[in-house]
Amino acid sequence: MKDISTLFASMVFNETVMQARLPKDIFKKLKKTMSLGKHLEPDIANSVANAMKDWAVERGATHFTHWFQPMTGTTAEKHDSFISPISGGRIIMEFSGKELVRGEPDASSFPSGGLRATFEARGYTIWDTTSYAFIKDGTLCIPTAFCSYSGEALDKKTPLLRSMEALDKQAMRILKLFSNTDAQRVNTTVGLEQEYFLIDKDLFLKRPDLIYTGRTLFGALPPKGQELEDHYFGCIKPRVSAFMKELDEELWKLGVYAKTKHNEVAPAQHELAPVFMNTNIATDHNQLTMELMKSVANKHNLACLLHEKPFAGVNGSGKHNNWSMGTDTGMNLLEPGETPYENAQFLLFLVAVIKAVDEYQDLLRVSAASAGNDHRLGANEAPPAIVSMFLGDELTDILEAIDSGSAYKGKVKSEVEIGVTVLPHFPKDATDRNRTSPFAFTGNKFEFRMLGSMFSAAGPNIVLNTAVAETLREFADKLEKSKNFNQDLATLVKETFHKHKRIVFNGNNYAGEWVEEAKRRGLSNLKTTVDALPAFISKKSVGLFTQHHVFTEPELHSRYEILLESYCKQLHIEALTMADMVRKEIIHFCISYQSEIAKLLEKKKTIGGKFDVSLEERLLERISTLTSCLLKKLDALENAIIEAKSDREITEKARFYRDNVFVAMSELRLISDELETITAKKYWTLPTYGEILFSVI
Ligand code: ADP
Ligand code: MG
Repeated sequence: MKDISTLFASMVFNETVMQARLPKDIFKKLKKTMSLGKHLEPDIANSVANAMKDWAVERGATHFTHWFQPMTGTTAEKHDSFISPISGGRIIMEFSGKELVRGEPDASSFPSGGLRATFEARGYTIWDTTSYAFIKDGTLCIPTAFCSYSGEALDKKTPLLRSMEALDKQAMRILKLFSNTDAQRVNTTVGLEQEYFLIDKDLFLKRPDLIYTGRTLFGALPPKGQELEDHYFGCIKPRVSAFMKELDEELWKLGVYAKTKHNEVAPAQHELAPVFMNTNIATDHNQLTMELMKSVANKHNLACLLHEKPFAGVNGSGKHNNWSMGTDTGMNLLEPGETPYENAQFLLFLVAVIKAVDEYQDLLRVSAASAGNDHRLGANEAPPAIVSMFLGDELTDILEAIDSGSAYKGKVKSEVEIGVTVLPHFPKDATDRNRTSPFAFTGNKFEFRMLGSMFSAAGPNIVLNTAVAETLREFADKLEKSKNFNQDLATLVKETFHKHKRIVFNGNNYAGEWVEEAKRRGLSNLKTTVDALPAFISKKSVGLFTQHHVFTEPELHSRYEILLESYCKQLHIEALTMADMVRKEIIHFCISYQSEIAKLLEKKKTIGGKFDVSLEERLLERISTLTSCLLKKLDALENAIIEAKSDREITEKARFYRDNVFVAMSELRLISDELETITAKKYWTLPTYGEILFSVI
């Protein structure tokens, strides 16, 4: 392997490359545009485009693309080559500033939720100068935002950038009140821990459910699952290790700070975490990571599953969104420091987050809602659908002391006593971990743990940034008018915590009692996607997002429609796949096996009465009973699929899928899984859970 420091970002047109390749004044202007998010002048754009093209061509690139994130949740690209004809039938490689800054893909096939009729297909992609261009697979990729002719956002990046700006604006007002004059910008930072499954590709290709839906729709549980907990942090198998090494290298080339990798709880489950970055870049990098996980896996004859619940009975996959706010001068606004109780600025930002999470708990829930994630939330492997916050003992004690007006006695930093003299003693962290909390304070950041593994990180961060921007705005409005800053600040921290402390829960979020307790506290418990989504278009939501210019009302409504549509489509595809697999494969397995047993039974009977036929008879009876039941359930599912197609308002339609189609699917699966356990292996040719989960050695 090449030296990592040479390899790192070798395919990224980053600041070092820009500085080396651009005239000084152009570089300076571009940098200003990048750090302050200003518009790029045409002359600068031309110069940058030319340098970018030369750099890319030297590295073997032949094409360029505007790389964007439509509302499908994945990325999109349309490649154009650099070639431009000149006289004599020859070509030159060309790339103009105009092409760099703005693209115009025919956007009619991307979901727009009614924002843009297909006959008005004009969509624009605009370079996000804060995210570097990179070369992927011989193509220069320019990270862009995607909007319609009239400026409505058609992607996930535009509102994310808007929400970062909203938070910046309000957080800067607060910093000014604390006499901070150095900082010019407050960014939100994010580190995303990505979970995934890695299975053998040959087995993957034998499972239509995995191919079409990303998850297994059938499968009896194997004798061994994750109960021994021997996979978590276990020694990494050579084939997986080879995959992880190549993935790291590919990510490093693209400037992604891939840092931590380990085995996760379920067999065949793993995790990768990069070092945190500004939110828009972390989101771009996470998209690249997911894409590369799939393509690198393929090279190793593996399949990477990013679905939230590929297998029933073992843990599903999530994405942990570690979130904080920091200034361009490097100050983390959620860093408590040695003496948090004296750190008024920290306490103010902390209660701002507490208030935001309490007031907009339903929107945070919406941001983690999808058909796939419905299988996880509340299933004792992921946080429940109830949003609450973990602060840990020290911060809770401090805030409680402020609330009750008593003096905070402080904590003596203790050492952890291990009882072995050769091991060094180390100071105890202020907070222990709480793995069950949806929103946990982890030292100097919050970890939002409800995201599904397949999610774009944009959605949850749009909500989080905007909600916190709103509380900061309220705080700034109050404090800017204050005649006695210190006193009003203290009152504000105290009152805010008092009003919103119901959202703080340091206990076990998986416990049944918590559901009751949360209800008493008046916290919302939106169990499924269909329950959660309406909050997105509520009056409160429209007020929040329009006030901070993150979404217009039509944009919110269009997204609501897209989310519900995609929920219905996902379930529809799953239902069709299931019906198809039963009809074309599972029924056939059962018939073949029954026919073998029946033949033997007949033979035994023709020979005469001396053979015991109880085994054959019992098996035949059991399989026939189950197969007739299977047929009934298949009929029920097919009827539900047909009924689901009838004309309904979209929310009604989604509800129908959840209450009828999904229920019919679960019932059909139950019978099929039972049949799998009694059918001979020779006939049940679909790869089993055991084979899939333990196939990579
Ligand atoms: P764990 O599995 O214990 O939760 P990891 O080390 O796997 O922790 O992941 C922690 C993530 O939090 C990393 O991506 C890290 O870069 C990120 N992180 C650390 N500090 C910040 C911060 N200030 N803002 C956002 N993310 C952060
Ligand atoms: Mg974590």
